[in-house]
Amino acid sequence: MVVSRGGVILSEIWKNVCIDLSRSVGEDDVRNWIARARLATVSGGVAEIEVPTRFTGEWILQTYGDKIIDCLRRQNQNVMRVSYLVSPSHFGEPSGALSVREPVVERDSDLAGSNLVSRFTFDQFVVGNPNTVAYNAAKRVAEDKEVSFSPLFLYGGVGLGKTHLMNAAGWAFKANNPSAKVMYLSAEQFMYLFVRALRTKNTFEFKEVFRSVEVLMVDDIQFIAGKNSTQEEFFHTFNALAEQNKRIILSADRSPGMIEGLEARVRSRLQSGLAVELHPADYELRLGILQHKAEFHRANNPELRFNKGVLEFLARRITSNARILEGALNRLVAAQSFIASDITMEYALHVLADLLRENDRKIQLDDIIRVVAKHENLKPSDLTSTRRTRDIVRARQMAIYLAKKMTTRSLPDIGRAFNRDHTTVIHSIRRVKELVARNNEVADDVELLQRRMADVG
Ligand code: ADP
Ligand code: MG
Repeated sequence: MVVSRGGVILSEIWKNVCIDLSRSVGEDDVRNWIARARLATVSGGVAEIEVPTRFTGEWILQTYGDKIIDCLRRQNQNVMRVSYLVSPSHFGEPSGALSVREPVVERDSDLAGSNLVSRFTFDQFVVGNPNTVAYNAAKRVAEDKEVSFSPLFLYGGVGLGKTHLMNAAGWAFKANNPSAKVMYLSAEQFMYLFVRALRTKNTFEFKEVFRSVEVLMVDDIQFIAGKNSTQEEFFHTFNALAEQNKRIILSADRSPGMIEGLEARVRSRLQSGLAVELHPADYELRLGILQHKAEFHRANNPELRFNKGVLEFLARRITSNARILEGALNRLVAAQSFIASDITMEYALHVLADLLRENDRKIQLDDIIRVVAKHENLKPSDLTSTRRTRDIVRARQMAIYLAKKMTTRSLPDIGRAFNRDHTTVIHSIRRVKELVARNNEVADDVELLQRRMADVG
């Protein structure tokens, strides 16, 4: 048993690091990488981890090094730096009597798709107008017998599903070709491994590894632009694979033609395949993604119920991208365990207040006046007039309350829109709040109106 100076068992510390890290980098990454390492020693400010292969070690340090240092410090370990040693024997691989301390050539299996994200599969991908072409193209790369275009170049803004589709293609290809090598990595990782190979004079091995894969997927290649020697190597790797009719998928945040700092021949190589744009999700697709993910959560938690209209509301209001949508849903689901009841609109508004503000579709005071008036069978001008019949006063108070709740306008601003001073505004808000608390019908009305308002955006 390896114990650190403080008497704490190192395996315990590492377990805590893994738990800590899964919050910031996600459970998949922890399972695929960090949990495959062990904490061997902590001394002189250096934490040494044991890894099964050099590749794993490089990857962990490069991708998670700083975060690991932070986590170790939170475990009261005095760490300035992390290093690794390769020790396959500790990981169930034969290596003679002693553990091998010097770097060994990584085994192929280590690169063979172990780094694909498990939930990024085709059946977890919701298809709609903005991404049909990309989806079909990725499927073809994975499933066609012949390689009819290479590379497939997927491009578009963040959170539109590029990484998801690449991983999905990797999984699908592996399903049909279990022994084939599928390699997915980010351009940054490619670059890092290349520079590292240069430094340790291991470029031959580097080339061999890359050139022995059946499917190569490099994500976010805009990062390679301007890095000349990396571009060069990338280009050679790329050519070597293309000549052997291997499958290649690349992604970037923009089309090959728009990436600055690319050498002309690299650019034209990239353009020689099929370039497909992923477009931002429209309302239908956003709703589809939410419904799909809600279903996914329900598989773990059958109690989970969304009130009618909640998912529609989120799909309307959160327009940025699927990642943010997914995050919103995760927050609701996580928070739901505390309330142990259905997720209502009210609750969603509460939990997601900050997010909704950011994604605000800029509901205008005019919209609120119009929607409330219509609901009460009044004219919009009734609400801003001086008339004080009971119906009108009620509707006006409701509109003022919603204006405060659904916009970021100040009280005096709201007052002006209704031709009232701000004490009337405060009084109206208070009055409706009381009613909502006491009277279910009013509460339902508020929810209904909010939903209508969201549809306006
Ligand atoms: P990108 O690489 O384009 O920035 P990602 O592939 O990382 O985007 O997608 C961000 C998140 O949104 C991922 O969790 C992914 O599963 C999810 N996502 C994006 N598009 C879809 C879709 N069409 N169906 C299901 N999930 C999606
Ligand atoms: Mg991505």
